[in-house]
Amino acid sequence: MAAKPALNRDYERLAYWHATMPPLHDRGGRQLPDTVDVAIVGGGYTGVAAARKLAIQGARAVLLEARTLGWGASTRNGGIAHPGFKWGPRSLTKRYGPELARAIYSESLEALELVFGLIRDNDIDAELRPNGWLELAWAPSHFEDFAAEAEALREFGARARVVERDRLREEIGTGAYHGGLAVEPGGVLHPAKWFAGLVGLAERAGADLHEGTPVRSIRRQADGRFVVETGRGAILARDVLVATNGYTDGAAPSVRRRIVPIGSYIIATEPLPADLAHELSPTGRAYWDTKSFLSYWHVSADRRLVFGGRVSFLPTTVDRTARLLFARMLEVHPQVAGYRVEYSWGGKVAMTFDRMPHVGRLGGVMHAVGYSGTGVLMSTYLGTRAAEWLGGGEPPALSKLRFPLVPVPYEGRPWFLPLIGEVFRIQDRLAVRGVPASAEAGSGAATDRPDPGR
Ligand SMILES: Cc1cc2nc3c(=O)[nH]c(=O)nc-3n(C[C@H](O)[C@H](O)[C@H](O)COP(=O)(O)OP(=O)(O)OC[C@H]3O[C@@H](n4cnc5c(N)ncnc54)[C@H](O)[C@@H]3O)c2cc1C
Repeated sequence: MAAKPALNRDYERLAYWHATMPPLHDRGGRQLPDTVDVAIVGGGYTGVAAARKLAIQGARAVLLEARTLGWGASTRNGGIAHPGFKWGPRSLTKRYGPELARAIYSESLEALELVFGLIRDNDIDAELRPNGWLELAWAPSHFEDFAAEAEALREFGARARVVERDRLREEIGTGAYHGGLAVEPGGVLHPAKWFAGLVGLAERAGADLHEGTPVRSIRRQADGRFVVETGRGAILARDVLVATNGYTDGAAPSVRRRIVPIGSYIIATEPLPADLAHELSPTGRAYWDTKSFLSYWHVSADRRLVFGGRVSFLPTTVDRTARLLFARMLEVHPQVAGYRVEYSWGGKVAMTFDRMPHVGRLGGVMHAVGYSGTGVLMSTYLGTRAAEWLGGGEPPALSKLRFPLVPVPYEGRPWFLPLIGEVFRIQDRLAVRGVPASAEAGSGAATDRPDPGR
């Protein structure tokens, strides 16, 4: 029996995006204001987009980031920019009714317009490739569902078509799947270059961004204003926006009770020869599959295979996740055996119990969080919409969704994740045997859509 290709050990334990993003200058140690209209907690896409919009609206806002700008998921993610949610149009309609379902889906299309528009209009070098995405059926039953899903997506304004198994090689260099669903608009980008571009836009608009400033608590006063205690002193704010997503801590306990942080991991190979890169990805799309333990990947602008997935629900290391991802990558693309992995990293995504993003108020404090794998587009959008709402604008349709509590005793340490991992494992086994899983149970099959960020 031929030996399995071995993973080299000399890769960087670092996000490939961090290694190739423009340096952001230090925004630590600057004088904090005493009083503001809005204090924003968290300096990822959500917070920076909100700070930009509030500055444009002429509000006095301050952004408080515990570490450095972009330290969270916004510079570590898979770079897949796709409209839509965990739930496809049919499932959204069943859950929320036709009107709200359409309004919510339209907001995800608006999110794409916003992000791609900002990149284009401001000449941001974000390596944007708007070639859409291809979802790959890991089990025959998943493929059977694609035709109805494509029709529903078209009704909701996306372009979608089924790719039969025997035509799959026109879209992707693998025989590992039962067919595909090709959808536009959408695409891939360099998440950290986009983040750096967004920071530039925010600062040019006059946003006040602070690093090394952890928020410890948010307390409401009798006059309705908030005292925001930071590691560097207190700020009095008329409003507060929590934008901490998968990194939410005890400063926002009621948001934390509604979010489960889950690790997601990625490896990036060395640059591949042009003909191999073209064979893997002839249409330059983003890819993901329908497994509950899903994989997501694309070929980067410099022809690396950037391959991510949900490989562990237990505390783990980037060495272990690199091994697991490497094995999975070779199942999908055996052609890359022999090419070196150069980077391995991970980060936290925020899963909510209904697998939907949430924007609204809890105890008077506004939040925009819980992107459940859709945050490359939705975070910039909801940060912007939250800022507009704070400035007296219309609330987004997504604010109509109730933000459910995680229905088990839980204060930030997700002790139940191994159990969820077991459920996912069983779902994947049943799916290949042709046993449909229940969409309402949050499976990766049938009427729900995958969520590439996890
Ligand atoms: C490995 C990985 C792959 C992903 N792939 C995709 C993908 O392909 N497509 C997609 O759509 N989404 C993907 N996502 C998800 C996406 O990256 C996130 O949804 C998005 O970046 C969220 O942005 P954010 O600004 O809300 O939060 P983050 O970027 O996570 O920022 C939150 C910030 O809050 C700060 N913070 C926390 N607590 C405090 C406090 N008390 N005081 C001050 N600051 C605080 C943190 O330090 C952090 O910097 C992925 C995520 C990961 C980790």
